[in-house]
Amino acid sequence: MAGESTDLAKIGATTGGPVASFAFADSKTASISVVTDFDRVTTQNVVALWEGSDPVLKNEMVAVGAHYDHVGTNPNAPGEDKIWNGADDDGSGTVAVLSIAEALAKAKVRPKRSILFVWHAGEEKGLVGADYFNKFPTVNIKNVITQLNIDMIGRSKKEGDTNPKNKDLSGENAIYVIGSEMMSSTLGAITKGTNDAFLKMNYDYRYDDPKDTNRFFFRSDHFHYAQNGIPIVFWFDGVHEDYHQPTDHPDKIDYQKMEKVARTIFLTMWELSDLKERPKIDKQLPPELTQR
Ligand SMILES: [Zn+2]
Repeated sequence: MAGESTDLAKIGATTGGPVASFAFADSKTASISVVTDFDRVTTQNVVALWEGSDPVLKNEMVAVGAHYDHVGTNPNAPGEDKIWNGADDDGSGTVAVLSIAEALAKAKVRPKRSILFVWHAGEEKGLVGADYFNKFPTVNIKNVITQLNIDMIGRSKKEGDTNPKNKDLSGENAIYVIGSEMMSSTLGAITKGTNDAFLKMNYDYRYDDPKDTNRFFFRSDHFHYAQNGIPIVFWFDGVHEDYHQPTDHPDKIDYQKMEKVARTIFLTMWELSDLKERPKIDKQLPPELTQR
């Protein structure tokens, strides 16, 4: 899950000079300069394709993705720990996608459509990996029938936790689901139906709202697939005290919850893969969601 980008940082990065000046009523002025260091680094998405069993349908794909980058290191962080590990954001999604791939490889049968795995790079730098993949896909992207995005599924709010920063963290048996009904009623019904028929987690749709003030829809990789006309589903556990902190550590992960979410997504993926017809796009993405 990416933070919201600040325009100030963008302007500073472009100009390298004063980014703002203010005039006060008594005619004194102040200016602010931002000194920026530029570093060009290269990175890559990791892409894998598991071929489907149906001679025709295998040309279509269900995409499953997560982002494997995090926010790096912070030499100025207080305390000893300068490494921002990102166990939940998005180690949890990265591992979930790996386990889905492993389960698929061990299954005795293959789903009808192919499964496209993309571990995105640079999500925290502005969803750049997902943006790049949608602009320069290594497959025929129009044949991707849906994208399932897993970004932060490993944390849960414990009973008695009164930390205000964990106020909106989902519980052990709950997860936020975003976007599943925004473009396709069929995708919405399959997403809900698979969960209802299997582990019956509490799917919380409160952020599945074009007017969501947190703007979560804009803040993870699925965004670029949706802009590309591909219906998406996004699973997310909610922000918490360790979100974008050096303390996002693996010992804080609720592995049982992670497993439950991953297994549910695996079955959702399989249901979608075996559909006779790809999920019909019967709704336009709300206009609020087309501009980042
Ligand atoms: Zn993040």
